[in-house]
Amino acid sequence: MSAANDADELAALAMTLKRHLERRRRAGVRVSPKADAPQAKTVNSKNDSSLGGAVADLFAATTAGAQANSLEELRAAIGDCQRCKLCSGRTHIVFGVGNPRAKLMFVGEGPGRDEDLQGEPFVGRAGQLLTDIITKGIGIKREDVYICNVVKCRPPENRNPEPDEVAACEPFLKKQIDLVRPEIIVGLGKFAVQTLLKSNAPISKLRGKWHSYHGIKLMPTFHPAYLLRNPADKKLVWEDIKQVIKELNGENA
Ligand code: SF4
Repeated sequence: MSAANDADELAALAMTLKRHLERRRRAGVRVSPKADAPQAKTVNSKNDSSLGGAVADLFAATTAGAQANSLEELRAAIGDCQRCKLCSGRTHIVFGVGNPRAKLMFVGEGPGRDEDLQGEPFVGRAGQLLTDIITKGIGIKREDVYICNVVKCRPPENRNPEPDEVAACEPFLKKQIDLVRPEIIVGLGKFAVQTLLKSNAPISKLRGKWHSYHGIKLMPTFHPAYLLRNPADKKLVWEDIKQVIKELNGENA
């Protein structure tokens, strides 16, 4: 084939792709590099090597909810989930709440009693403290961020989720992150952070430094429930949150 033919063919391909993307946009489908372009491993952060891969790699195409194009579709795919033993003690599946296009996402461990009863994450005393961090500390509304947990059903007596429960539920978290595509994730507490980072390091070592979750900036900090028991450490959380504010304001560029 001649160079001129090659150029014509490329131009035609580009036009076809452009029309396809425009159709998807008009249909309300969120256009993502994952869905519309050949996969390329990208390194989006200096810490990326600890996790590898891009956001596009987050979700295995064979898992329930993989085809969801919105949080509503993902919630529908989860249904009356019985995929792990936590289903037996729950009142509600606590899926997540907030802005589906949030720049900032908070990820905790799992629902507690209040959350289980109300079906919303972080609504008890610890939730009020998180709301204060968001509204009084960061200066934005709670509805402007997205909040969810690693597991969506309450573990009995608030114990840590077990490995098989995390394995069953984590794909839903990954898909939530993939759909929201936040710029920053704040990991709340040891369990959530260790799950996200696949690390056994203590939260006291992980907090206060930027990490990468598949190319998304991740700031670990203490869980609000821990702060209720250890109020002296609020100042450390404030240090972490100040870094988040700077990043949101583009002051770390
Ligand atoms: S914790 Fe997750 S995987 Fe387990 S039953 Fe609840 S929604 Fe399903």
